[in-house]
Order: sequence, then structure tokens, then C-alpha cells
Amino acid sequence: MAYVITEKCLGEQYADCVEVCPVDCIYPGAYKAEPFMVIDPELCIDCDACLPACPIDAIVPTVENDPAWAKINAELAPNFKNNPAVPPRPAGDPPRKPGNKLVR
Ligand code: SF4
Ligand code: SF4
Repeated sequence: MAYVITEKCLGEQYADCVEVCPVDCIYPGAYKAEPFMVIDPELCIDCDACLPACPIDAIVPTVENDPAWAKINAELAPNFKNNPAVPPRPAGDPPRKPGNKLVR
């Protein structure tokens, strides 16, 4: 089991989730030429810290919530693992995608 970052993060990459993960298993990278972030299912301990940290609710708590994006997280994690960290966006920075809404 592992938490999963979903399509909402694509192009957003707020990175607030990275700072709260106790096992450093959230990695930045690019997917389909857009900034993205994935959770490494090999390391995630299901602690729930990241989910309430995401300003646009891009994280879901189980693979079953979004199997397609869970597969993408798992496939990209080894490639993203050693990418340099990205700084979080400023608090309240509006979403770049029209379908996304700030929820916190
Ligand atoms: S906080 Fe949300 S939007 Fe930002 S990188 Fe994490 S999952 Fe993506
Ligand atoms: S659930 Fe916990 S361990 Fe898993 S990615 Fe989120 S913060 Fe990290």
C-alpha cells in the first residue's frame, strides 16, 4: 500500500508535501513535459502527513483510489529518485491549471 500523487499535481508541483514526509519518499521530476511529483511506493509508510499538506488535494491515500496514477508513481519513482529537490511554491500561489482549486 502507498499514498499516490494524482494527475492534479501535473503542472503544479507545489512541493508542500515534500517537506512533511518523514521518510523523504516524494520526488520531483517531469512527466509529459510538465513538472510533477511522485511518491515512492517502496518507501511510503502510509503516515498521512502529505495528504493534508497538498494545497490542491492531489494526493490520495490508496492505490485503489487511482490505480492508473499509482502505476505512474511506481514507474517514475526510480527515475525521479535522485533529482534535485525543488523549492515549495509560495503559500496561496494560485493553481496553474484551470481545473484545480486551492483547498487550503
Ligand atoms: S503538494 Fe500537491 S501539488 Fe504540490 S507536489 Fe505535492 S502533490 Fe503535487
Ligand atoms: S503517506 Fe507519509 S510516508 Fe507516504 S508519501 Fe505521504 S508523507 Fe511520505
